[in-house]
Amino acid sequence: MARCDEGYLCEVCGRDVAVVTDSDLYLRFVLGEVPLERLHCQPERHLRCNPGLAQYIVDPAFEPLAVPGDFGKAGLDPAFVRAEEARVSAGYRRLLAIPTLGLSVPEYPLHVTPDGELP
Ligand SMILES: [Zn+2]
Repeated sequence: MARCDEGYLCEVCGRDVAVVTDSDLYLRFVLGEVPLERLHCQPERHLRCNPGLAQYIVDPAFEPLAVPGDFGKAGLDPAFVRAEEARVSAGYRRLLAIPTLGLSVPEYPLHVTPDGELP
């Protein structure tokens, strides 16, 4: 994953982030939140080690994650939560597909697809 001095270790739990489909960094890259030129110098994290974002992943492949307290989606505006769930879940599905898409890294982000649709 990240190719800086810290290697591929999660900055939260310290364990290896072994696959791109478990990478919070790559999910945020797919979503356009991390620019390509910063990708190799950002800390790596597991999806579940960044629950503030991962709570919006709604997908059969992802065990739902609840965040207690003020930043949990249960206490947020339902319209905002629905929009975030749509956005982040689309990014997650893209992330899951990356190993089979044969894309180069600059083509990973969702907005780069020619028709704007998921494969
Ligand atoms: Zn972790």
